Amino acid sequence: MTHKPDLKFKRVLFKVSGEALMGDQGFGIDPKTTARIAQDISNAVKLGVRVAVVVGGGNIFRGVALAAKGADRVTGDHMGMLATVMNAMALKMALTEAGVKACVLSAIAMPEFCETFSQRALDQHLDAGNVVVFAAGTGNPYFTTDTGAALRACEMKADALFKGTQVDGIYSADPKKDPNATRYENITHAQIIEQGLEVMDLSAVTLTKDANIPIVVFSLHQKGEFVKILQGEGRCTIVSN
Ligand code: UDP
Repeated sequence: MTHKPDLKFKRVLFKVSGEALMGDQGFGIDPKTTARIAQDISNAVKLGVRVAVVVGGGNIFRGVALAAKGADRVTGDHMGMLATVMNAMALKMALTEAGVKACVLSAIAMPEFCETFSQRALDQHLDAGNVVVFAAGTGNPYFTTDTGAALRACEMKADALFKGTQVDGIYSADPKKDPNATRYENITHAQIIEQGLEVMDLSAVTLTKDANIPIVVFSLHQKGEFVKILQGEGRCTIVSN
């Protein structure tokens, strides 16, 4: 039997924002960046970690942006959810190319494109060792994929919700604007809420707080960091109760 290193987290929900998939393009899906993220996930699967992913849609469409121009918010959010389905299909394709068995489960039924989310389908795919890519967020307008990620993390009984961002953790202020910003190694869900730190939507923070699921905030730009953190190394901020 091959030796498997000790794992700090064995069952994780990975939130990948739509913006993470666009690379330097400014819009849409960059195949190279998507392939790199798929490779990080593949490396985690090889270690024996059960991984599911919630993808955002901000690289293509955000309902709230349309609503700000006076258009109907619900229709905008439906369009935003469709954007997440496109991203999920792109990520699934990249995972397949990386040799990882993967499926897309969408909160909104579109059976010609992918499977529809159900707890049973989720459990079956995870038990089979497949990577599940969740599409269409929660399936409801007025929500975001951050909250979708928190919800799916609860449903899959994740050890942690990994939130890949532009920076290597949570700071007291925006490190790109404030040179005195300090980085937290550990912080509580309650402190995030009290201090109004913009890590994830408040609904996502409260959901994970109630379910006692840690949030791990790390940089998506650091190649291989995901796997390092799964093994208890690497740079990140851990949010726990
Ligand atoms: N969305 C929604 N309900 C959900 C999740 C997403 O209506 O449960 C819509 C919403 O319009 C949102 C868009 O999908 O702006 C894209 O998701 P999000 O902004 O969370 O993507 P990210 O910022 O992670 O790329």
